[in-house]
Amino acid sequence: MADKQPPLDIQRTVALFGLLSHTGAKDIEIGYLNEEKPYDWWAKANWDGHRVYSEGHLGADDALDEVAKQVVHGGQCVKCKRKVTFGFIAPGRCSRVLVMPVDEDLEFQRLCDIADGLRMGIGLKAV
Ligand SMILES: [Zn+2]
Repeated sequence: MADKQPPLDIQRTVALFGLLSHTGAKDIEIGYLNEEKPYDWWAKANWDGHRVYSEGHLGADDALDEVAKQVVHGGQCVKCKRKVTFGFIAPGRCSRVLVMPVDEDLEFQRLCDIADGLRMGIGLKAV
């Protein structure tokens, strides 16, 4: 690994990999074009031949976030059947929000799974 490497929000990046893998994504990849700002992070993933790509981001998590938004946003929750939003909480919709479980790893969870544990509307799960 090179000495110079763009900073990486590893927790959020891992959480986004987790979210994308739950959608059935295969070959999820990230990379960057520059060692200095602007790093131009890119991300891509595919679903049995359907490929989603994003580029030109300051962080790997931002690149993955855009891929996840394109895939998750506007879909239907397999559990509660409501329309899904991504990354924020919207009334009447099932949101995918970032939570911090007991072991402190971040992960995205369905609002319909964690609604009872939400505090302050910021996506923290009560333990
Ligand atoms: Zn739901």
